[in-house]
Amino acid sequence: MQADDHAIMRDVIDKTLAGSVSPQEEQSLREHLRSCTQCQDYVDAGTRVIAGLGGFSFEVDPGLQAEVFASLKLRAEQLEAAEPSRRRMVWGCIAAVVLLVTGSAVATQFGNMAASSLHLQPNHVQRVLMAVWVVPSLCFALLFPLLPLLRNRKESVL
Ligand SMILES: [Zn+2]
Repeated sequence: MQADDHAIMRDVIDKTLAGSVSPQEEQSLREHLRSCTQCQDYVDAGTRVIAGLGGFSFEVDPGLQAEVFASLKLRAEQLEAAEPSRRRMVWGCIAAVVLLVTGSAVATQFGNMAASSLHLQPNHVQRVLMAVWVVPSLCFALLFPLLPLLRNRKESVL
């Protein structure tokens, strides 16, 4: 077994934990795990991180969050006054940005906390958190500004 194969399998494991794995990938992962204790340990550790997510309460810096939210709210009010039709989109963006900021802060903080309490490498925990939270919330954040653009394009075609 090449070292690269383990790296590929770890990517598949990350995807599995994030719930975005294809049936083929899942099948090859299952076959690989049968003979690889190294990757079995990786799955085990990742599963413990996910399980730990439910049990911890996060300490996100409330000052930072309030500051971000306050400036976004102000901007939203300005935009709303100028153009009421943009209201929903602006609030969508705010929700997405807050989610992203919170997610990244939690990933950093929780990563270190979980690593020490579960006796794991911090970079491993960060990797799992990136896969299950930060990346999806980033996609979510990017989706909101795009939605009205897509809708406008459709309307101009019709
Ligand atoms: Zn392996």
